Amino acid sequence: MNADRKVIIIGSGPAGLTAAVYAARANLKPLLIEGLESGGQLMLTTMVENWPGFRDGIMGPDLMADMRAQAERFGAEIIEGTVSSVTLGERPFALTLAGGRTLTAESLIIATGASARWLEIDTDRKLSGHGVSTCATCDGFFFKGRPIAVVGGGDSALEEAIYLTKFASKVTLVHRRDTLRASKIMQDKAFANPKIDFVWDSEVAEVKDVTKGEVTGIVLRNLKTGARSELPLDGVFIAIGHTPNTSLFEGQVELDPAGYIVTSQGSRTSVPGVFAAGDVQDHTYRQAITAAGSGCMAAIDAERFLEGHEG
Ligand code: NAP
Repeated sequence: MNADRKVIIIGSGPAGLTAAVYAARANLKPLLIEGLESGGQLMLTTMVENWPGFRDGIMGPDLMADMRAQAERFGAEIIEGTVSSVTLGERPFALTLAGGRTLTAESLIIATGASARWLEIDTDRKLSGHGVSTCATCDGFFFKGRPIAVVGGGDSALEEAIYLTKFASKVTLVHRRDTLRASKIMQDKAFANPKIDFVWDSEVAEVKDVTKGEVTGIVLRNLKTGARSELPLDGVFIAIGHTPNTSLFEGQVELDPAGYIVTSQGSRTSVPGVFAAGDVQDHTYRQAITAAGSGCMAAIDAERFLEGHEG
């Protein structure tokens, strides 16, 4: 087959870079296209304390820089750029980059991740990493003995609220309606937890940082009455869902109703030769380490696929 590359990987988070390490070590000379957020979601975090092997933790951006250097050491080529379209109807697969360059590949690993949804206010993103977080598992530990809020009414919000009661002095769950979307069992657990308070029918209108730099409270707006009130606290966890970055693949690869790529037998997608790894196909675990593990699986699956389709 006359393709530019045996393997192209789209995405440079833990899934994409781990796939690059494995594919490079299998002599497949992979090309990795970084995507919009080079390094993925870990570039937005500070200390990563749950990556095995670093007993004192490692800064997210440092971990990603090391992963990248490791992939390059084995011969992976990493290029800046975003993919603007793909054609997966026949092999070799064709990719067009923003800017017009086209590439062909015998196999493709999709590791484009998912993006946490943010509130539609400026102040939450501005204070990301300074008291506002979209990942309780990553950042909960920093709020030992301190009051915090969780925004959202689905399973993620309740799971995060319950998890955060291990650290926080008090967790206020802010939901925009007066009934939760979460499953009954999660609701029962949350209602039974004495550390969780509920604020209903309300949105966060503003995240305050009077000391300029760290969260000091939120302004709540009751959506039924319009009344505004202020709640002093040290942290805000936003858990209003994730959006998988799959718009590029709509109509070409099977997606589930929430837009995640459907995988089976490891990392296989509905298109033979196209594999998916990391958060783009996982709305359950969403951890860096599980993303890396699935990136490894995708590289091995691609290698075996290529062995069976040589020529
Ligand atoms: P979700 O079910 O879509 O819930 C998102 C929540 O955020 C909803 O309560 C929604 O309010 C609220 N919301 C959305 N946009 C908002 C905005 N702009 N401002 C304020 N609130 C907003 O998302 P999820 O909780 O991440 O769950 C995703 C999927 O994973 C679900 O299928 C869930 O069951 C599953 N999951 C399962 C578990 C578990 O079983 N342990 C854990 C986590 C996730 P409304 O209710 O008003 O729409």
